[in-house]
Amino acid sequence: MALGEDSPATLRLKQRNHEFEPAIIRVAEGVYTAIGYTVSANSMIVGDTGVIIIDPGQTIEGSRRIREEFAKITSKPVKAIIYTHSHPDHTGGAPAFVDEGANVPIWARSNFGSETATVREAGFRSGVRPVNTQGFDVPPEKRLGIGIAIPPARPPVDTGMIRDGIPNLPNAGQGPTARSLAPTQKFSEERRQLEIAGVRLDLVAAPGETDDQLYVWLPDRRVVFAGDNFYKSWPNTYPLRGTARRDVRQWADSMDRMLQEKPLHLVGGHTRPILNDAQEVLQNYRDALRFVYRKTIEGAEKFLTPDELVDYVKLPPELARLDYLADYYGSVWGTVREIYAQHVGWFDGDPLNLHRLPPREQSERMAALAGGVQGLLDKARAALAANDPVWAAQLAQHAMRLQPASKEPRLLLADALDTIGERTFNTTARNYTLAYAERLRRQAEGKEQP
Ligand SMILES: [Zn+2]
Repeated sequence: MALGEDSPATLRLKQRNHEFEPAIIRVAEGVYTAIGYTVSANSMIVGDTGVIIIDPGQTIEGSRRIREEFAKITSKPVKAIIYTHSHPDHTGGAPAFVDEGANVPIWARSNFGSETATVREAGFRSGVRPVNTQGFDVPPEKRLGIGIAIPPARPPVDTGMIRDGIPNLPNAGQGPTARSLAPTQKFSEERRQLEIAGVRLDLVAAPGETDDQLYVWLPDRRVVFAGDNFYKSWPNTYPLRGTARRDVRQWADSMDRMLQEKPLHLVGGHTRPILNDAQEVLQNYRDALRFVYRKTIEGAEKFLTPDELVDYVKLPPELARLDYLADYYGSVWGTVREIYAQHVGWFDGDPLNLHRLPPREQSERMAALAGGVQGLLDKARAALAANDPVWAAQLAQHAMRLQPASKEPRLLLADALDTIGERTFNTTARNYTLAYAERLRRQAEGKEQP
């Protein structure tokens, strides 16, 4: 790979963006899914007297366009909306489907909003982390999709009184608008059978990406709407923005429950629907999750640390070759670390992690070894030139800690992170790395406080 050329990771992600070109896809008789109009996948089921909307979308503007497209298929009125879960990329466009004064029931589980509630109760404000993870600050020429969608260039502005999703992001503005309408019909049982507009459907509790997740089962047409328990990517078992825990075993069990319905078609929360192969895909997804869980626990019992476990736990080749299990959005390595963190906690078994030098002191000792801060910088620059950006970044970070007011180490770290980010396949890790580099540059220019 020559300098300035796209890395294999970048090339594959550019290819991936075709997945999100706007399209209305016919899934089955009277079932349509919109892709590429908003971040999420948004569906319509056509019944005798009206239509049912599953996940109305992220933004009011994007969802209005979907409604226009759906209206070309049928002019029947919206009889109900179903939220598969409370993430605002699935709910924020709801007003586009509800006419002024119309009384449209909105279905969700009784624990709707539980993920944000947990974070809010803890008093935790995640600040810039969601912005870094989604890549809102990444310059346009470096921006690619997030592996399961192409997000808007600016975070949507929440115009609602109620907010059950992620809080408004700190740099929201000039962006599209969103407003999640509160659910009006909640259910607390495992399965609720409904008939809406002459359509029989089941809403089934399915904890996974969130605790409040459900799937919709349409028995007559053998379609399952999985919400965010499925999209064509390794599942995001731990979002880098930081969030409440996501239970990998429950997630796999929810896949299993969907599989037992014997579906033909699978509509995920993002990416284009799976037509005809639902069972094979669900089975592989479930098996892959259970494999990674088992292998992580097995390695942890052998006293391996998380750093060692990410090498130890590799998907078997027959699963690793499946594009819908690739690390586009979630990652196998992130899942391994998350399983370890949930079951074993922060201590990785290394006694030195019970007795650590504070970061600044570590950097002082490294500088002494390298011949001072200048030595660190020279070696960092040499490492970057020798195509060793991770080592370059580590050295530059030591220098930056010791000379926080100086531009040079900050800019060098930014350059190293840019190279690392450009080669990173997992999109959230990539975005986080590239966005962090941008922040360092703004800090060096005095435009942002370190
Ligand atoms: Zn989603």
